[in-house]
Amino acid sequence: MNNSRDRTSADGGGDGVPTVAGRVRLRTEPGAQVRTVHETVAPDTVRQSVFDINDMGVQYGSKTALAHTTMKIYRHLVTAIIGPSGCGKSTFLRSLNRMNDSIDSFRLLGQVLYNGHDLYAPGVNRVEVRRRIGMVFQKPNPFPKSIYDNVAWAPRNIGLTADLDARVERALRSAALWDEVKDRLRTSAMALSGGQQQRLCIARAIAVEPDVLLLDEPASALDPVSTAAIEDLIGTLKNRYTIVIVTHNMQQAARVADRAAFFSLDRTDLVGTLIEYGDIKTIFGNPRDQRTRDYVTGQFG
Ligand code: ADP
Repeated sequence: MNNSRDRTSADGGGDGVPTVAGRVRLRTEPGAQVRTVHETVAPDTVRQSVFDINDMGVQYGSKTALAHTTMKIYRHLVTAIIGPSGCGKSTFLRSLNRMNDSIDSFRLLGQVLYNGHDLYAPGVNRVEVRRRIGMVFQKPNPFPKSIYDNVAWAPRNIGLTADLDARVERALRSAALWDEVKDRLRTSAMALSGGQQQRLCIARAIAVEPDVLLLDEPASALDPVSTAAIEDLIGTLKNRYTIVIVTHNMQQAARVADRAAFFSLDRTDLVGTLIEYGDIKTIFGNPRDQRTRDYVTGQFG
């Protein structure tokens, strides 16, 4: 993460912006499969993992929110995190870019490797982590600034001011918002509709060309038309980004995701944990665990 060897020109985008070293320096062995009991991976599948999560747990003070979670998240796929309320989905997602660090009582157990680097190792640059692993929240949260300044905010913060207009346009185009806002870039983002605001937040996240996008229920506060726009956008963005999305909407998970991880409360200690993980067809069509089956068929949760 903070390793200068990672910032080679081979990783760069030509404008001095380092892209993600892991794209060319993954430690995943060809053919490697995840060893969690409940994961299904086609035997002939060779995938590159972005995150290798080993026996991860999260505590908030004396409360254990998540325990014993082992899984890999694969590049350029959409991975949905599903499960009943309170089982640790958000906690899990926020732990992937150290967003929980701001919570004093937060403690991470186990290991989260990002492109082979220990995300929680001493000395890891958290600003760099957030740049590479962007996040969009449930409620659109644009800054009370112009549309342009929202998108330009993160690039400016890290000194990416060369060709800023082009960068802003690129991000807005990628977020499928450019045509709607190109004539009013200097007007307030707060005047946009909720759906537009959420696409603006996605543009803001991708303006620094991250590797991963974490989406925490990104459409749950939106109307059906805006939801469809966000889902379409996810389908487009996955060509360039690895996407992890928390959603409580099963239809949405089935529409947008390639893989799904079902979390629930463990029967004995009522702590959130990963129950089953696999490709979307298996999780929705032929899950191994009765708890997954009950959840995806709407009988529980
Ligand atoms: P989900 O996203 O599945 O609804 P969360 O990750 O939000 O679940 O929460 C998992 C558990 O951790 C819940 O019991 C919740 O109350 C607890 N929790 C979440 N955030 C905090 C926090 N900042 N401090 C203490 N407990 C928390």
